[in-house]
Amino acid sequence: LSKTERKIIEDSIREIKDFPKPGIVFKDITTLLSDKYAFGVLMNHLYQRYKEYNLDFIVGIDARGFIFASALAQMLGIGFVPIRKHGKLPYTTIGEKYSLEYGVDEVEIHIDAFRGQKDARVLLLDDLIATGGTANAAATLIKQAGAECVEACFVVTLTFLDGYKEVEKKTPVYSIIEVK
Ligand code: AMP
Repeated sequence: LSKTERKIIEDSIREIKDFPKPGIVFKDITTLLSDKYAFGVLMNHLYQRYKEYNLDFIVGIDARGFIFASALAQMLGIGFVPIRKHGKLPYTTIGEKYSLEYGVDEVEIHIDAFRGQKDARVLLLDDLIATGGTANAAATLIKQAGAECVEACFVVTLTFLDGYKEVEKKTPVYSIIEVK
């Protein structure tokens, strides 16, 4: 990814201060998605990188991860698999809980998400990693569902939080934009 391309992507992401609560700077990727050049640069870069990976599935995390993951899956000619918040997936699921600042949350995957394929090669893709709780639980679920998480990719990584380091213990992490 060239400096110019990275800047096009970075500049297309809108920052909303104090959303959803005071002190949080929310990275709004809707302005990236509606910018055909920025979205195109990003998806083309992801395609060029991951076409060499021999992947079987792209897993996207509820909800913004779905957008990038399903687009990339189609470009690569492979399947898309959702990991969702508790209670949203209709068939039998495997769940993984993770702790938040206050309380716990849970993400789930369908038990047959990888269609019985043994050791499917999977890319985990989300818009942003902060504390890493969600991505960590997602990587665990991919394994429990019988696949191999080859890499975890994030459009934005908040490197001032150590979340990505926890994920790196399990699987390589690739970030497009790093926020220090
Ligand atoms: P975490 O589990 O703390 O790594 O949080 C990651 C999830 O929360 C991702 O799916 C993001 O979409 C969302 N998220 C957390 N912090 C932000 C932020 N500052 N801006 C936008 N989305 C965020």
